[in-house]
Order: sequence, then C-alpha cells, then structure tokens
Amino acid sequence: MPFSKFQLHPSILRNISALGYELPTAIQAQAIPVVLAGKDLLGIAKTGSGKTASFAIPILNQMLASPERSRNRQPKVLVLVPTRELAAQLVEVFSALSQSLPWDIKSLAVYGGVSINPQMKALYGVEILVATPGRLLDLQRSNAVDLSKVKTLVLDEADKMLNLGFKAEMQEIFKLLPQQRQNLLFSATLSKQLDGIKEVMLGDPVVIEIEEQVEAEAQINLAGYFVSDERKGPFLRHLIQDKDMHQVLVFTSSGRKADRVANKLGKNGIEALAIHGKKSQGARTTALRKFKSGELRVLVATDLISRGIDIDKLPYVINYELPRSPKDFVHRVGRTGRADAQGLAISLVTREETHHLKVILKKMKRYMDMVDSEGMEL
Ligand code: AMP
Repeated sequence: MPFSKFQLHPSILRNISALGYELPTAIQAQAIPVVLAGKDLLGIAKTGSGKTASFAIPILNQMLASPERSRNRQPKVLVLVPTRELAAQLVEVFSALSQSLPWDIKSLAVYGGVSINPQMKALYGVEILVATPGRLLDLQRSNAVDLSKVKTLVLDEADKMLNLGFKAEMQEIFKLLPQQRQNLLFSATLSKQLDGIKEVMLGDPVVIEIEEQVEAEAQINLAGYFVSDERKGPFLRHLIQDKDMHQVLVFTSSGRKADRVANKLGKNGIEALAIHGKKSQGARTTALRKFKSGELRVLVATDLISRGIDIDKLPYVINYELPRSPKDFVHRVGRTGRADAQGLAISLVTREETHHLKVILKKMKRYMDMVDSEGMEL
C-alpha cells in the first residue's frame, strides 16, 4: 500500500518521497491511520522499524489540517525522549517532513548538557518540542515553556527512559499537561516497568506490536573471531585495513575503553573518535556529524548511546567486546544493514566468553561461524 492511500496533505507526500521512502514500513502502515484518527496508541517497535515517521507523518498532517497556530512558548506537540542524540534525530525527521508546507511548523530539540539560554530563546514559536525530561522541567520552571496547550504527547523509547530513571520526572511532566490530549507511547519491549506509565498515560489505546524484524536481521551477516584481549587492538586494525572498511562503528563496554581504542587507532593512522556519555555534547555532535558524512572512518561507541545512532546503510559494526545483554547485541548489530542494505557485524570474542556468546546467539535464533585468530598474522 503506497503512502498516497492515506489522506495526507500533498506537501507531506512530497516530503516523504524526497526522503526516499517508497512504501510504508509495517509500523507506519498500521500507526498512521490510528494517529490520524486522534486515537491513543501503544506501539511496541524497535528503532530501525521506521517508528519515527509513523508518528511524525500523521502529527504534521493533523497540524496542517487544524488552522490554529501555537501561541508563543506553548507547543502543541511534546515528544519525550531518553537521549540528546535521539532528540536531535527526531527533529531532523520532523524538519525533513516539514519542508515547504503551506505554513512553517517549527520543531525544536531541547536537552541537558548544553547551555540553557539559547534553548530558552529558540522556544519562541515552537509547535513541536522534542525534549529529554530533566531539561524540559528546567525550562518549564524558568517559565520558558508552557505545556498547558499540548494536544499530543509522544513518549519515544519509553522503556529506555524508565531504565535511565526518568520515571519521577515523566510523572511530573504529565501533571503539567492538559487532561484532554492524544497519547502515543513507543517502546522496544513491553516490560513490567512500563505498566505504571501505561496506566497514567493511555486511555483505551490501539496496540500495535511489530514482530522482531526477522527479515531485516537476516540481512545482517554475523561473523566472529576468537581473539585474546591482548591481541584485540592489533586485530581490529588488521580487520579495518584488510577489509578496507571506511565507515565502521566499533562498540566497547565502557567509555574509558572507547577512548583508549579510538586513541590507539588514531596513533596507527586510522582516523577514529570516541562517543560516550562522558563526552561533551559538542564533541558528540561533531563526531556523529563527521561519521555520518563519511569524513570519519571509525566511531567507537558505548551501548548507552547506540540506540540513538541512526545512519543509513552503515556497512560495518564491530563488537570489540561483547555486551552483557543479548538485547544490546541486537541493538548494536541493528546499526548495520538497515533500510534494505546489507551489513556485516563482526564480534571479537575471547575464549572465556564462549558460553555467553552461545546465550546471545540462542536468544537471537542465529548461528555464527567462529574463526580462530591465533594463527593469523597481524
Ligand atoms: P526509525 O525506526 O524511525 O529510527 O527509522 C529507521 C530508518 O528507516 C531510518 O533511517 C529511516 O530514515 C528509515 N525509514 C523510515 N521509514 C522508511 C520507509 N517507509 N522506507 C524506507 N526507509 C524508511
């Protein structure tokens, strides 16, 4: 079913095609009509499913349909997200879909870790506000934003927000919103933790659950090498050079390790930057921009920010270390082979981790050939 089957404004349809989207993804096909009808929605879907556009398209369309404009500092749409990266990414999608509309619809991302003053100024005339909970409350307490006119509330990656301990802040925010509103809740999983939020937020929601994208995952080729900890550095360099990789996302288990791996690569002439929670926002944004544009060959990242990294057709992901949870493994390898492109995810595994690796692969219902790197010349 093409996008034109939905009752969408022609300029939004044009923006959808400018983004290169030909057909709606599963979540888009199901969620767009529900959101257009003004109903509450509980969407169980992961990043990579196209969930952003599944709410951004109908929200923008509804805004075009209602001629009422936002008053100063009174956004009509509030999207809560767990991380700065996701906030910035969502605004990118909203902006791309808002090009050349009959009137401007301004969207803005606000998040902590950067100075608050420019955000206070930028809030003027914003209709769609994408925010991390803590910074939103700071702005509200400073009277920089008034949430009493919000018509649609979106919670994106709600499970992650709860894992990061934002529950109290979310509940405080709910109290600042009008009772009468549309609520859209997206989560990668349905956890017990989510129950409390679901009850406060949703009336009688339409539930859409997108099965694990077996097809998309099947496009990701998995490869593994047994490598001892001491040999991982040289082995990583060997892999990148031998396979002539030019856009590689490497995962480590800690920020400190990410810094070390990136430094070592740099010293060996492979341009790399690390990105993790302890880096300044400026450094994170620059690293991501350079990596996305292809200027930077290797980005070394931790799990905390892996969900926020959205890069079309990323060819390679390398697990320098295995993550503790199978879920993180799925998220990591999901950074490659997205949107119909083939990808390769390579894991460097120590012998001691063999059992852990088996647990992960069993959960994923996947098989991975393991190659012993010991005899290989690096
Ligand atoms: P999301 O799950 O929202 O993070 O989207 C995952 C990726 O899929 C992003 O790179 C989008 O640009 C892309 N995408 C979203 N919808 C479509 C579509 N209908 N056709 C092709 N690509 C899409």
